[in-house]
Amino acid sequence: MKVVGVEFMLCEFPLKTPFRIAYAQWDRMPSIVARVVTDNGLEGLGEGVPDPEVTGETPEGTLAVLLGELGPALLGADPRDIEPALQAFRRRVRGVPTAVATLEIALNDLIGKAYGIPAYRLYGGKTTEQLELYHVVSLGAPQEMAESAADAVAGGYRGLKLKLGQGSVADEVARVGAIRSAVGPAIPLKIDANQGWGTPSEAVRRIRALERFEPVWIEQPVSQWDIAGLAEVRARVGVPIMADEALHDAHDLMSIIRLRAADLINVKLMKCGGMSPALQLIHIAGSAGLQVQIGSMVESGIASMAGAHIAAARPEVVSLETSGPLLFAKDGVDSPIRAPLFRVSETPGLGVGLAADFPSLVRRRVSVGELA
Ligand SMILES: [Mg+2]
Repeated sequence: MKVVGVEFMLCEFPLKTPFRIAYAQWDRMPSIVARVVTDNGLEGLGEGVPDPEVTGETPEGTLAVLLGELGPALLGADPRDIEPALQAFRRRVRGVPTAVATLEIALNDLIGKAYGIPAYRLYGGKTTEQLELYHVVSLGAPQEMAESAADAVAGGYRGLKLKLGQGSVADEVARVGAIRSAVGPAIPLKIDANQGWGTPSEAVRRIRALERFEPVWIEQPVSQWDIAGLAEVRARVGVPIMADEALHDAHDLMSIIRLRAADLINVKLMKCGGMSPALQLIHIAGSAGLQVQIGSMVESGIASMAGAHIAAARPEVVSLETSGPLLFAKDGVDSPIRAPLFRVSETPGLGVGLAADFPSLVRRRVSVGELA
């Protein structure tokens, strides 16, 4: 079996409501969907959602890397040989994890289809029957956030993730206070500052003020380059700390472990380069006693399900945030993702397919090789 063609589709997925975090806001999410075609008629789907703030990759730049470098490197290769493919990519480019993930995910989909097994079986088999998603509350005014939180809980969500990281200590306290009053004491609240609190001392002030609302954990309170600062915050507060933007690859993770900078890490396929690099991070984290969240860049059902298969397989994963398909008005993808609980399907590969309305979301198509 060998790869004969790869098609890349630059898409835009409209969000139901604008998604706002400390460093950006989106009305529609640009994404690159890849279709890898083999000589025996199989096809694998992959996806890359570049976040310039986090990995330095843009949609146009990622498309250029895929078309000019990574796509051609895959032609003629056996898609079951993931490591040789990753080596071939590394010989051509560095520092473009989202571009690599776009194709690495498609290869996993193809391997599952070639062997007739769902992707979670490639990563250890199923350790949990059901996966749970929390509702993500966009950064906004206290009342607006509280309403979104209350609606989500009324709709069946059993936990919330709050986007903070803007304004004064009082502003942040007003947001979380309004949400806690709206949903009551029993709903777990995860807080993500998205680097917005800047310095360690500013972060400590805010976390101490927020402790009375009993957040489950605080994600990425300080700038992404400041791993020592993350360790300082962790040493000075009682709430568990999660590293997100500070963690890309295994080298970052080893620094985080050495400095005791986090209790948990947020692994995203777009930061580390796909499913098998994510597995490497999970193994290292587990060995160091850190727990893992599988996050996402607000991805369609394709990359979201790639994350979900790993979460289904790995007991180190205590939290899953592949909720992109629930935030989009449409993503043109058929996937089993539902809120708040869902199961990975037993369909071979990722268990996703392009829906009839997918072409309406494609802005540009480019390809290498023969698509047949
Ligand atoms: Mg985060």
